[in-house]
Amino acid sequence: MSRIAIVGGGVAGLATAYALRGTDAEVTVFERRESVGGRAATRSRAECVYDTGANYAKGAKDSDGQDGDESDGRVTDDRVSELLSGELADGLVDIEEPVWTFDADGNLSEGRDDDSPKWTYQEGLVALAAQLREASDATVRTRTEVVGIDRREARNGDREDDEWRVDVRGGETVADALVFTPPAPVTAYLLDRSAWDAPLCDDLREAAAAVPYRTLLSVALHYPYREALPYYALVNSDKDHDIGWIGREECKPGHVPDGESLLVVQPSPDWSREHYDDPDDQIAVNAADRTAELLGDPDRYQFDWAEVVRWRDALPDAGADREVLARGADADLFFAGDWVVGEGRVHAALRSGLETGERVAEWL
Ligand SMILES: Cc1cc2nc3c(=O)[nH]c(=O)nc-3n(C[C@H](O)[C@H](O)[C@H](O)COP(=O)(O)OP(=O)(O)OC[C@H]3O[C@@H](n4cnc5c(N)ncnc54)[C@H](O)[C@@H]3O)c2cc1C
Repeated sequence: MSRIAIVGGGVAGLATAYALRGTDAEVTVFERRESVGGRAATRSRAECVYDTGANYAKGAKDSDGQDGDESDGRVTDDRVSELLSGELADGLVDIEEPVWTFDADGNLSEGRDDDSPKWTYQEGLVALAAQLREASDATVRTRTEVVGIDRREARNGDREDDEWRVDVRGGETVADALVFTPPAPVTAYLLDRSAWDAPLCDDLREAAAAVPYRTLLSVALHYPYREALPYYALVNSDKDHDIGWIGREECKPGHVPDGESLLVVQPSPDWSREHYDDPDDQIAVNAADRTAELLGDPDRYQFDWAEVVRWRDALPDAGADREVLARGADADLFFAGDWVVGEGRVHAALRSGLETGERVAEWL
């Protein structure tokens, strides 16, 4: 029986494990955090549930194939939509209100919301990872950070075969194939510090290291009142405002008790990088001030609690060289994740994980 080690329990890692269900592989997912989900992250506090990483997952496009900044034809996600609205549909909710836009001067406009569903779960987007985990038959080891890998020779009955040694904090394990799913900079770092001495290792590390990333802060601001507004979220269309995104979690069924409001504010990548190390309360006050100014609503200066989440490697701005990554299979090494397909989106990570899982299944 082949042993498959998957590094990372985000959507891509768990989708890889899901695609391997029913095979005779022994699949283990190593996740460094205490819960799965990665950047499909959800927190809860005071009866509120809020998505602090990805805001929602997109369904299939409408028929004209247009989809804002995704209009380059990479996304044809009927299969992902089918899965989300089928086997992974438990607790799935669609956000009905549209996304509006604003520009650098703070002018709001209705923008052009497409018809495709904006999905999350009653329990937040993390439920997607939880359901993938449940539906797979993999062993998932949380709080288990992979700190190193090495390739070594092994005897398998009469056969000599190479295998992977996977170092985790406090021990090591072995695998016949390894699937990397952390963000590209972490993947590059792990390859860089690997004792695996082969030109292919250098090529793979360089391919991962070349992927540029945006840093983002995510600030949850809670208010003990709610007002009726015509939109779910506001997105900065000219990328020239200190705020990039404001989402109203109360538009997601089951997220915020009646009569309350919870905004998830994401400052722009430049602002986020500049203020990344500021104290939480300073970031929260700054985000609330800018939100109040943008909304023209003085009540928004005064939130009653806040939470700040930092994402240093938030969104890949390009994809890795997939031809180079595909050569990893020569050494029983595979890759999945949003950066592999070059699109920082949940549906892209899900699709990438499914595709990689299928490739590993063929390799078995
Ligand atoms: C602020 C923000 C807003 C976003 N908004 C949206 C949105 O509205 N819609 C959308 O579709 N997408 C959005 N995204 C992008 C989306 O979240 C990602 O594209 C998707 O979740 C990536 O999934 P993944 O599995 O590829 O990577 P990840 O979710 O990053 O999973 C990688 C996993 O690997 C783990 N890991 C890392 N290193 C190790 C190690 N050494 N050992 C073990 N485990 C390790 C990590 O803890 C993580 O769980 C947003 C992202 C952010 C940060």
